[in-house]
Amino acid sequence: MKEGNVREIALIDAELARRGQETKTVSCGCCGNAVKVSVDTNAEDFYCTRCVGSPRAKTFKGSIGWAGRRFFEARFPILRKNLDAPNQAKWDSFDYEKKCRVIGRMIERGAMI
Ligand SMILES: [Zn+2]
Repeated sequence: MKEGNVREIALIDAELARRGQETKTVSCGCCGNAVKVSVDTNAEDFYCTRCVGSPRAKTFKGSIGWAGRRFFEARFPILRKNLDAPNQAKWDSFDYEKKCRVIGRMIERGAMI
């Protein structure tokens, strides 16, 4: 979570606690589900963890969330299409996380958007 948001949410919580009110909820900016605003939530810029993932998730897919999975999966066939046959076979042998990490590195290097 961004430092500014942590401070902002902590202030919200402190104010709500002072007033004796319940913790505030906001709508996820992606799916619209309620996101509990608290210093203990995983809300990243007020998106729910199902959409943007959580660093505390037990699986890689959980750590990148629905939006992350869609981002990488949309690029899987694009990358594969541009490989020669031996590298396509190598790509097919990669597990899901490795495919995502390859795509991530290509984006960092500017080879892919
Ligand atoms: Zn969501």
